[in-house]
Amino acid sequence: MKKWVYFFGAGKAEGDGEWRDLLGGKGAGLAEMTKIGLPVPAGFTISTEACDHFYKNGKKYPSELKKQVADSVARLEKVTKKKLGDPKNPLLVSVRSGSARSMPGMMETILNLGLNDKSVEGLAKVTNNERFAYDAYRRFVQMYSTVVMGMSKEDLEHRLRTMRTRLGAKEDTAVPASGWKELVGEYKQYFKEKSGNDFPEDPMEQLWGAVGAVFGSWMAEKAVTYRRVEKITGLLGTAVNVMQMVFGNTGDNSGTGVCFTRDPSSGEKIFYGDYLTNAQGEDVVAGIRTPVHLTELAKLMPKVYGQLDKVRVKLEKHYTDMQDMEFTVEDGTLYMLQTRTGKRTPAAAFKIAMDMANEKLITKEDAVLRIKPEDIERLFYPIIDAKVDKKTLESRILAHGINAVPGAAVGKACFSAAEAEEWAKKGEKVILVRRETSPEDVGGMAVAQGILTATGGKTSHAAVVARGWGKCCIVGAETLDIDYKTKLITASKNGKKVKEGEWLTLDGSEGVVYTGDMPLVTPEFPKAYQTIMKWADEIRRLRVRTNADTPQDARKAIEFGAEGIGLCRTEHMFFTDFEHPEKSHDRQLAIQEMILANDKESRVKALDKLLPFQRRDFVGIFQAMDGLPVTIRLIDPPLHEFVPHEPAKQAELAKELGISPETVARRVAQLHEANPMLGHRGCRLSITYPEILEMQVRAIIEAAIECHKGRVKVLPEIMIPLTLDKKELGILVDATRRVAEDLLKRAGVKLPYLVGTMIELPRAALLANEIAEVAEFFSFGTNDLTQTTMGLSRDDAGRFLPDYVDEKKAGVFAGDPFQTLDTKGVGMLMRWGVEKGRETRPKLKVGICGEHGGDAESVKFCHEIGMDYVSASPFRVPISRLAAAQAVVEAKQKAAKSKKK
Ligand code: PEP
Ligand code: MG
Repeated sequence: MKKWVYFFGAGKAEGDGEWRDLLGGKGAGLAEMTKIGLPVPAGFTISTEACDHFYKNGKKYPSELKKQVADSVARLEKVTKKKLGDPKNPLLVSVRSGSARSMPGMMETILNLGLNDKSVEGLAKVTNNERFAYDAYRRFVQMYSTVVMGMSKEDLEHRLRTMRTRLGAKEDTAVPASGWKELVGEYKQYFKEKSGNDFPEDPMEQLWGAVGAVFGSWMAEKAVTYRRVEKITGLLGTAVNVMQMVFGNTGDNSGTGVCFTRDPSSGEKIFYGDYLTNAQGEDVVAGIRTPVHLTELAKLMPKVYGQLDKVRVKLEKHYTDMQDMEFTVEDGTLYMLQTRTGKRTPAAAFKIAMDMANEKLITKEDAVLRIKPEDIERLFYPIIDAKVDKKTLESRILAHGINAVPGAAVGKACFSAAEAEEWAKKGEKVILVRRETSPEDVGGMAVAQGILTATGGKTSHAAVVARGWGKCCIVGAETLDIDYKTKLITASKNGKKVKEGEWLTLDGSEGVVYTGDMPLVTPEFPKAYQTIMKWADEIRRLRVRTNADTPQDARKAIEFGAEGIGLCRTEHMFFTDFEHPEKSHDRQLAIQEMILANDKESRVKALDKLLPFQRRDFVGIFQAMDGLPVTIRLIDPPLHEFVPHEPAKQAELAKELGISPETVARRVAQLHEANPMLGHRGCRLSITYPEILEMQVRAIIEAAIECHKGRVKVLPEIMIPLTLDKKELGILVDATRRVAEDLLKRAGVKLPYLVGTMIELPRAALLANEIAEVAEFFSFGTNDLTQTTMGLSRDDAGRFLPDYVDEKKAGVFAGDPFQTLDTKGVGMLMRWGVEKGRETRPKLKVGICGEHGGDAESVKFCHEIGMDYVSASPFRVPISRLAAAQAVVEAKQKAAKSKKK
């Protein structure tokens, strides 16, 4: 017979602390605490498997469950020497949820279960406190009515307030027994009115109602949303913990508290927590009374405090991590109700991990595993000041979008990139608001505090560019209607409007757009960060490079620990001169002249104008990287992205180039493609216009020669995008080498350089053995590879992908495949590509430069398939360094585990 229920009590437990998946975090903690001899009230846990069964079988319990619960109740009655519903000495229980991952406040709890009109009298007698007994009863009836039956909490609290006014009681503590008795009557009457039934007197009926409510809460909207936001997947469900009640509200010798084994804000090794005299747990949570610090408990009840401190030491040693514990003192006796790994601020996460490794409580490897990617992310970016209360935040929500780049930003709404630049020059802070962005907008994006778009996903242009700068960005805020003409944002969900120049605050970590300006704070950089990152660097095998297009970005990335550039998107410099922004127009004109040219001769003439700009950029980047490898990618986007589409701007351009507006319009129309992402882009441009490739290679090699002569070491890697065939790539590799060799020969310089390709198309991955004959390195462009493998447009998927991720809607994917690699499908091509490529060329250098190179889970996969490096945007370099180290440790642990088996 399958076991669904696990008992704990009197120093023994059927469960185990390791069985979090089966018993939930709370259940596992209770079992473990019982086993190690801590004072835990007895009880039992209904497993998460029962919840899973419940949902897989039309909300029916497993057939054996009834008996197993009844047996466990009987056992509990034996251990506690009390009986459920006993009119003399009743057993009361709490019923709490608890899944394998902590979901604070997301699921339900019912206390004082087992009370009815008879047992309440028994409770009054044994406690010699009628007031306490009826207070407990009304709490139970209220919780049962709201949690189990879904009745209105407000309606019940209204009755409570009316009763208090009637009795002239300012606080609950001033209400006499008769008041609570009356209220129980009123609550029950309300219960009957609403449900048509009497309030259940049978404790077993109460218990099953509560179990059903806990299981039901697993699929409640807020719980589902929480799991989606926190990316919690793959759990069976929630467990149900039924435990003997102990009371913190029997008088001044009782109380309840929450404590942490170390300070969860700073990570300091101090006992930290709150205590509330004469109270139940819910009073602490409700925040009506202000708790006192634990140091007060030391004064009030030194013996209890001493015991608690011992528990602290024991638990931390046992779990080797900071614990968050709940306890109750009943008439001077301490009971532990819960222990779990405590949530902590990012700064505390670093400090605690470092300290525990130094204390030899854990190893350095464990310490590295303890840091989450979000911990790093949250260290660098400004956030909305915690002083802004929840209510204000909620009232100011304009829209939700996709959280493309974390951090927060405040600025005035501005609808065009050009205006953003003008405003910024005047010292204004702006938020650039666009339906979507294109390379034309880069200047405006660069000066904006943050970027907001109505369309697009995590690899859309706006997201990729903003990420490179670590600039707060929200994309795919589909409920926003952005009208460029009237310069007005209208939120379709709530009707709110924001005009040009009005303040906006973006929370890029959560993907929420707020109206108004809110105060921001930048978290402090903890010292422990450097220590832990040093340990990570010692452990990892993967190299970590950066995606950077400018010398500034390159320098920033070096500060973050980048070991080279894995992707320099040259076209990002076509439109903006980052060192001398005032000169941007010259290069824009040159590229536009090249695109509009009618024949090769005029194209070459225009390219000659672009050459010095590109060369200067490359010199800057080589200098910044000072001998580290630099991968420069040749032109990639379709040409239409670089020319204006509005007639007024076309006329302006025509005037500057001395041609007719009609010519410009005609040429732009010719460039139009039905599906540009699969059109004339990437290396296909260089097949048609070899002169573009020649100019770019020339700029790269001339810059390299210049640096070499100036005694700056250079390691250029020239990368050709979007290859699909060996012959195609061969033509371009030959052309590249021709130009390079000729330049080097003429300069009399010997320089190592590599020519390789991106793997962005399934065909290229499948035929990697052939491609590797002509490519010296591969870099997986997983943005395009995801798009082309899955057949999902990276720019449009934001519109429907959320439904694919939503557990309640479809739940097809656990996460956004443009953010975290689809290791099953896309990953299969990557694994194949690496393997086949190396069959041809054993020393083939392989890396990744799609956005996944900065995503921890994806980095671990890259380690697993044997890549040499990953490349991430500068701000995500530390995340990749950490993930690369974690991959090593996790692989080691996995190997050790399977050896044990
Ligand atoms: C990619 O496709 O993964 C890539 C890095 O190139 P881009 O994002 O510029 O298309
Ligand atoms: Mg690409």
